[in-house]
Amino acid sequence: MDPANSEEIEAVRDMVNRFMQTEVNPVMDGYEQRGEFPREVIGKAGAAGLYGAVFPESVGGSDMGYLAAVVIQEEMARNDVRFSSCNNQQGSTCPSTIYFGGTAEQVQKYVPNLLAGKTIGMMSLTESGGGSDAEGNLKTFARREGDVYRITGQKMWASMANETDVGILLARTDRNAGAKGVTAFIVQPKKYPGWKAEPIAMLGLSNALRTNVLYLDDFVVPVEDRLGEEGDGFKIIMRTLQAGRVTVAGKALGVARACFEDAVRYANDRMLRGQPIGRLQMIQSDIAEMAVAIEASRALVYKAAQMMDASQPSNRIAAMAKYHASQTAKMCADKAQQIFGGYGLAREYRVSWLKSYADLFFTGEGSANVQKIMIAEDALGYKVADRHHGKTGLRDIRKDDVAAEAVR
Ligand SMILES: Cc1cc2nc3c(=O)[nH]c(=O)nc-3n(C[C@H](O)[C@H](O)[C@H](O)COP(=O)(O)OP(=O)(O)OC[C@H]3O[C@@H](n4cnc5c(N)ncnc54)[C@H](O)[C@@H]3O)c2cc1C
Repeated sequence: MDPANSEEIEAVRDMVNRFMQTEVNPVMDGYEQRGEFPREVIGKAGAAGLYGAVFPESVGGSDMGYLAAVVIQEEMARNDVRFSSCNNQQGSTCPSTIYFGGTAEQVQKYVPNLLAGKTIGMMSLTESGGGSDAEGNLKTFARREGDVYRITGQKMWASMANETDVGILLARTDRNAGAKGVTAFIVQPKKYPGWKAEPIAMLGLSNALRTNVLYLDDFVVPVEDRLGEEGDGFKIIMRTLQAGRVTVAGKALGVARACFEDAVRYANDRMLRGQPIGRLQMIQSDIAEMAVAIEASRALVYKAAQMMDASQPSNRIAAMAKYHASQTAKMCADKAQQIFGGYGLAREYRVSWLKSYADLFFTGEGSANVQKIMIAEDALGYKVADRHHGKTGLRDIRKDDVAAEAVR
């Protein structure tokens, strides 16, 4: 049986939908209107296991795997993509980076609370010079002074940096060592001085879960909160971003489905010249294109997740999944908006702003062009996309490596 249709996966899907319908959908508009971070609801999502799918039980996860994780992302985004804005910070980029590159003590100290939604995560790599060449543009510098580092610089697009308790931040520790001069740190801005996050006004994105410009002025990180050795940071974060791509693809799939479902409902309800607009063949053409693209995206996204669950080389397929799903989300958002006519521009209807999320998934976690370059260079034989598979020396989240280390 196809694991994507298994009883376990369907149970996960039902559980997420029930959670969203009872705990999130009724309250999220209120959080948006107040511009209030839904910390309490994130705690409930953590307690329900929505962030821990890929992590072993020994660190507070549910060990269900990447397929379950993308289905969770898909259904959360389909219900309310605004609330799902912090999914990667809680269940992927931040805790994964700690799991991949931290000591067993760091993992046990920080990961379970992130997965439980008790602490709010963050991962800040990008700077204003350009995210597609994140390493080349990374100027934020960490200076060691005895038992602490003092970090100074400016980060861009640091999502949840205005709320985070425990995040990951990449800074340079050597200006002359290229990628090997980048180090990853566990940061705790509520505990140490020198951190100022300013939310960025965004078109069509959440007013409650924000992305930020982050100013660091001698921000303090104890040496014990460094991840790995100095210079390991870029290698660790590249591994993290690959996994993050598949979960972002799951969210894009959820947005595409939300647009499709709203468009179908509206096309059946909206009457023109005595018949529903769904009877018009050009509307049917749009509906058909959306349906086909969603099925194709779903096949790619689930395949990528299943390959990751089997610990197979999956960088290339993850790039394809993210590219296709975000492209599909953009297309579906555009068509849904047009099917709604003028109402597609009214804030009251979510198709008016879902396009912004489709655009975000097209760009964030590695832009569409960057994914295409990776796919094409692999196809042309210039650079094998999965050349690092199994060679990073980092832990595998799908194995219980940290627990095994404790036993040894
Ligand atoms: C809402 C939001 C939240 C975000 N959250 C985070 C976060 O939490 N943490 C974090 O670290 N980052 C975050 N990001 C940053 C995100 O990952 C970057 O926006 C992304 O990597 C692209 O970088 P850029 O925006 O600087 O675009 P650029 O890198 O400047 O790219 C501009 C354009 O050039 C294209 N391009 C780049 N290189 C090539 C090439 N070789 N050939 C052809 N075209 C190319 C790109 O596709 C893009 O279209 C977030 C971004 C947004 C918008």
